[in-house]
Amino acid sequence: MFDALADRLDSAWKKLRGQDKITQSNIQEALREVRRALLEADVNLQVVKDFITEVETKAQGAEVIAGVKPDQQFIKIVYEELVQVMGETNIPLAHVEQPPTIVLMAGLQGTGKTTATAKLALHLRKLERSCMMVATDVYRPAAIDQLVTLGKQIDVPVFEMGSDADPVEIARQGVERAKAEGVDTVIIDTAGRLQIDQDMMAELAQIKETVQPHEVLLVVDAMTGQEAANLTRTFHDEIGITGAILTKLDGDSRGGAALSVRQISGQPIKFVGVGEKVEALQPFYPDRMASRILG
Ligand code: GDP
Repeated sequence: MFDALADRLDSAWKKLRGQDKITQSNIQEALREVRRALLEADVNLQVVKDFITEVETKAQGAEVIAGVKPDQQFIKIVYEELVQVMGETNIPLAHVEQPPTIVLMAGLQGTGKTTATAKLALHLRKLERSCMMVATDVYRPAAIDQLVTLGKQIDVPVFEMGSDADPVEIARQGVERAKAEGVDTVIIDTAGRLQIDQDMMAELAQIKETVQPHEVLLVVDAMTGQEAANLTRTFHDEIGITGAILTKLDGDSRGGAALSVRQISGQPIKFVGVGEKVEALQPFYPDRMASRILG
C-alpha cells in the first residue's frame, strides 16, 4: 500500500533509519514529500499546510516501535490522520422519522448535480425508500428535461412546473406534494451557474429557508482540484452545507478535493460519483480515499 509515497520517501527514510525516535529534524524531508504528494493529489495549499502541521505534531516524539520500521510507522501516522480528517467512517444520508426527508442539492453547473440527484434517488430506491425529485433549474430548460428523462429511466417521479415558475415556489410545492403522497425522500435539484454569483446564492438560501431541508449536499467535481476549497468555503458560509457528493472520481483525479471539502466545512462527503451512468454512485469511505490520495 502507498507504494508511490513509499518510493518518494525513500531518501527521507535514510534519515529516520537507525533512530529510535521520530524527531522534528529527522522528519522534515519526509514531511516535504508528503506535502508534495498531497499537492499533486490536488489538495488545497492551506489545507495541506494545516494537515502537515498536525502530522508533524503527532509524529514528533512518537517512539519507534520495536520491529516496525520508522518509515512504515510514519506512513501509518499520515494515513491515520488522513482518515481521521475525512471523518473515519461513512456517514449515511439523513433519514427522518416523519417523512419526507428533504435533500437540497447545491453546486456549480456541470459538476454533475442533476446526474447526482438521479443517482441518489436510485440508490435510495434500492434501499426501498420511495423518492421524488424536484426540478427547480428554470434557467436551463434542458435541465428540467434531463431530470424528467432520468426520472423515467429510474422510475422515480419528477415534480416540475416548467421554466416560467419561481424556483422557490417549485421547491415549496414539490415538498408539499411529496408530503401528500407519503414519499420517503424528496431531492431538490437546483440551478447551478458557471461561477458562484449572488443571485444564485440568494435563491438557494431562500429555497433552504422555505423547505428547511434535512440535508444540503454540495456537489463537487473532483477534477476542480484546488478550487474545491474556495467553492466549499463560499457555499458553506452562505448556505450551510451538511455534506457533499464528490463526482467524477472515475477520472484521473487523485481525489484531493475530498480532504479540502471536509477540512474546510467540517461536513462529511457522503457519496462519490464514479461514472456517467445513473448506477455509478458509491458511499464515501475515508480509508479508501486516504489510500487513493496517498497514491
Ligand atoms: P449539472 O450541470 O451539475 O447538473 O451536471 P450534469 O448532471 O448535467 O453533469 C454534467 C456532465 O458530467 C454530464 O455529461 C454527466 O454525464 C457528467 N457526469 C456527472 N457525474 C459524473 C461522474 O461521476 N463521472 C463522470 N465521468 N461523468 C459524470
